[in-house]
Amino acid sequence: MNISDVLVRWYAKHKRHLPWRETSDPYLIWVSEVILQQTRVNQGIDYYYRFVERFPDVGSLARASLDEVLKSWQGLGYYTRARNLHKAAGKVWFEHGGKFPDNYDGLRQLPGVGPYTASAIASFCFDEPVAVVDGNVGRVLSRLLGIYTPINGSQGRKKLQEEAGRMINRADPATHNQAIIEFGALQCTPSHPECGTCPFKDICHAYLNDKVEWLPVKMPKKQKRHRFFHYLEIHRNGYLYMHQRNERDIWNALYQFPLIESDRELTTGELEKTPEWKQVFNNLHPRITAVSPIYRHTLTHQKIHARFIRIHLGGSNIHLDENYRAVSTQELQELAVPRLIDKYLEQENYGKNG
Ligand code: SF4
Repeated sequence: MNISDVLVRWYAKHKRHLPWRETSDPYLIWVSEVILQQTRVNQGIDYYYRFVERFPDVGSLARASLDEVLKSWQGLGYYTRARNLHKAAGKVWFEHGGKFPDNYDGLRQLPGVGPYTASAIASFCFDEPVAVVDGNVGRVLSRLLGIYTPINGSQGRKKLQEEAGRMINRADPATHNQAIIEFGALQCTPSHPECGTCPFKDICHAYLNDKVEWLPVKMPKKQKRHRFFHYLEIHRNGYLYMHQRNERDIWNALYQFPLIESDRELTTGELEKTPEWKQVFNNLHPRITAVSPIYRHTLTHQKIHARFIRIHLGGSNIHLDENYRAVSTQELQELAVPRLIDKYLEQENYGKNG
């Protein structure tokens, strides 16, 4: 049995019609692949349409400010992707005259373009026979061929890349790659794969050896780090104070309320005694008017526990940290904020009732 031929036939029958499959424009393929890296297809479609409507080509993305790009990315999370998209667009536009590199090695030189994305663009747009290996492909290969090396380790990744490269259809690498990704997404799914109707059930190692539930093998994930955020939602004369993150940490360049972080949750009494609180408010007399429930937000290696402390400040002649920006609730809507803060703003009806 030629596995690639079977995959391609399966694909012709079962593939979903997705907007980025109707094009071979490397810009559009690139945007879709970056969106889909950490987002499910159904959710990703809306973002894709919105993003390419706002930035229809690499030039418009390159010329936009980082703030605009981050704002358009809001809700998708993993903002490093958006920052790299912007940086790479700048490189294509200003250094390559707007023309995308047309091969795997050239594409790998762009910021944020890893082996998977480079293989996808090179094969889908330029017919280069380089195999894509993502989570879907890894699962299919590991079950089909009986690969027991953990697929999230470097040895496993190398092995999978070799096997995928051996299997690729050199005459039509684009369709082959699309087919194996789609097969993993629809037929050989993580739980409850459709083995009964699978065209590989007579040769699949996992199925024949009752190992479907065991494969792929994965190394245990790193323990998540817990962080405790206390956001100071400071109101004064109809304005709110926001601060742009610039630490080498999560959410770089996004806006947030002034933050006090600690290694455990603090009561408001404890918060008022911290040096950070004293530094923010100095000799002022902040009035706490509300404390939110805890908002929990999970990132790849971190879990954030956040509370929002609503504070009113009176008086004139007030000098808060010069890095804080006083914004109206209208202006607040224009700022790119982390999903966690966005959830809170939605909950509190900011921008709806003003
Ligand atoms: S038989 Fe089952 S486990 Fe094997 S490739 Fe098909 S769907 Fe995946």
